[in-house]
Amino acid sequence: MPRLVDLSQEIYQGMGVYPGHLKTVVWDHATHAETIRLFEGGFSFHSQGLMMCDHGPTHVDAISHLDPADGAPSIDEMPLDTFYGPALCIDVSHVEPPEYITVDDLVQALDAGAHELERGDALLIRTGAFERHGGTAEYTRRYTGLDDEAGQWLYNQGVKVFGVDSPSPDNPISRTYPVHMMCRAKHITHYENLANLDQVTGLRFTFAGFPLRIRGGTGSPVRAVAIVED
Ligand SMILES: [Zn+2]
Repeated sequence: MPRLVDLSQEIYQGMGVYPGHLKTVVWDHATHAETIRLFEGGFSFHSQGLMMCDHGPTHVDAISHLDPADGAPSIDEMPLDTFYGPALCIDVSHVEPPEYITVDDLVQALDAGAHELERGDALLIRTGAFERHGGTAEYTRRYTGLDDEAGQWLYNQGVKVFGVDSPSPDNPISRTYPVHMMCRAKHITHYENLANLDQVTGLRFTFAGFPLRIRGGTGSPVRAVAIVED
């Protein structure tokens, strides 16, 4: 049995959300005390309501989120193999916000590891944002991001998807979002708000981060997992 590493952040009322995104609300829809009266023999159940953004917390963007063109695939229209496959995690957590992550940073991080990046890999980029500020208000404000050239480099390396342990692969000081614009142009998607990348830094593993089958969804929360063969 391989080792499973949870790369997902928790979902709860009060969790940080990207500025301008829908807040998360969780409520008791039916409690044991309420439902026991509806049955005989002691049966009861507890269920909750859940309202949240389709971009929160650990989630994958649909192409329709990135590209306004007619026919850009929504999350339910994207092939499942987009969300599963060989992966590598590199560490650029020495870059402090508000600095940008550059091509040099990415290349040096790869060179420091034991594994080559292969075309078709998922590349997870440990920025350190979750480790620094996860669960605090700072998390949605203080993080670094890739510059334009670093975004183009991801495309040139042939990555299938990529992901970050921060609210966005774009630096929050940017107003042009070059990495999201690369994703729009090339129809490459990415994961945001990953967690626990310190546990898989430098490793090669299988990544799984399947979205919910939301009709017309512009993204979806995922349970992101690294499947590690030690
Ligand atoms: Zn995004």
